Parts: sequence; structure tokens; C-alpha cells
Amino acid sequence: MSSLLLSVDLEDVRDWVEDGARYREAVPRNTALYLQHFQRWGVKATFFVVGEVARRYPRLIAEIADAGHELACHGDLHLQLDKMTPQQFRDDMCGNLAALENAGGRGICGFRAPTFSLTGKTGWAHEILADLGFTYSSSVLPAANPLYGWPEFGAAARQVAGGLWELPVSLYRLPFLRVPMAGGVYFRVLPFWLSRFGIGDSLRRGEAVVTYFHPYDIDIEQERFMHPDLGGKRHLNLLMYIGRAKLLKRLEALHRRHPFQAYGDYVNALTAASAARD
Ligand SMILES: [Zn+2]
Repeated sequence: MSSLLLSVDLEDVRDWVEDGARYREAVPRNTALYLQHFQRWGVKATFFVVGEVARRYPRLIAEIADAGHELACHGDLHLQLDKMTPQQFRDDMCGNLAALENAGGRGICGFRAPTFSLTGKTGWAHEILADLGFTYSSSVLPAANPLYGWPEFGAAARQVAGGLWELPVSLYRLPFLRVPMAGGVYFRVLPFWLSRFGIGDSLRRGEAVVTYFHPYDIDIEQERFMHPDLGGKRHLNLLMYIGRAKLLKRLEALHRRHPFQAYGDYVNALTAASAARD
């Protein structure tokens, strides 16, 4: 079932940067820009929210929900799954859920692992999510990757544990470019014709296109600092600042061509279609 799934991973990058507190607060302003953009284009998105961010900005979380967008979990403290035991992960999810519910979130049923850290080693997380009542996860990068990746999982959305759906992030099909086609830095830095081609091709094949953007991806005023997970490499850090002014324009061009959907709505449709087949 083809669909273009729109999401923002709502996190505060300052939380993992050395001396992060000395940099300007940017999450509320950038979230407001996304909300204005989505309202203008009449689209609904999923916001995967870090628990700590929900505790810091409860009014912002309520505003997202009031605008009709979906709230979902992105870890209580944005800890990668391999840094936790299964029990710690369960507690982390309960903290994340409580933070969203305290801010007014209801019916939360989706999760995205920080840094797509759900791999073959941490596959136990799917069962815990199903047990906690989640209906979907979008946490797998189905290719080899320097950080995390689960190539054996495969590119297609499928049910994994207790009816839970996993919607892996969408990658280019090109053998020399096994990277996300509609996510953060790749969407900003690679030529837009390539993203448009990849997305159009996947939709024509009847697939879901899993996207992800962050507050910093549109932040043209952010100070320069070394971003986390780059091993201190300056050339990679440069890429973190390229194309930020273009991101919303690129999204707009996609809005003109394709309808977008929130993840929860898509998963409900998937579940209904699979029940109708049985
Ligand atoms: Zn994240």
C-alpha cells in the first residue's frame, strides 16, 4: 500500500552536545515553523517526541496534538537501544509515554528508536513494544551502516511481534547509495531530483515512503557546534549545516505532487487491509 509518511523526530540536539546549554533554545521556534508549514499544506504528520523534550515543553506538545498531528515516542532520554537492557528499555518507554500523556497526548501507539538503533541484536524491543500496547515501530535502517543497521530485515513494512508493525526507513535502491532517501541530512544534501525520483519510484511500486526530519534540519540560525554521532569528523559536521534553507521548499514540492499521511493512520489502514485478506 503506497503512502508518503511524514514525521519529525522532536529532540533537542543541545542535550548531547558538549556544553549544549550555552547554545540558543531552538526547538519551539523550529517546531512552530513545521506546524505552520503543515497547516498551510493541510497535511498531518507524526511527531516522534523524546520524553525529556515533552517535560521541557508541555505546551508545545499540546499544541501539536491540538493541530491534529500524531504524537509518538522517541525514547525518554534518546538512548540508543544497545545501551539499555530489555528492562531498562521497558522503563524508558513507560517514562516516555508518561511524559507525553502528562502533556495531553492520548492514544499513543508508535515508536521510533533513537538513531534507528533497532537491529538484529536489539530485536527484543519489538516484543516489549507490542506488550506495552504499541501498534507500530519505525526504527529499522535495513542496510549496513556505520552506526546502526539491520540489512537482513528487508525493506518492506511487516508485522513482527504480537501484531506490531515495523516500518523500516526507506532507502535508495541504488547499490552504491544505500542511504535514506527522505530523511534529514540526506534529503538536504543530495540533489532533489534524486529524492523525487526515488520517492516516486517507491510509491509506484506500492510501498510506504518513511521520512524523518528534525528541528535542526530547518534551523538556519543555529550556532556552529559539533553534532553528536559523527565521531568528531569536521567534514561530516559541515554536511549537518548544508541545505537547511531548502528543506521546507523541497517538502512543499512533494506536497504538490503526493498526499502525505501520519504513521498511525497508515498503520490502521494496513491492519484493516490485512484483516480483510484473512
Ligand atoms: Zn532522534
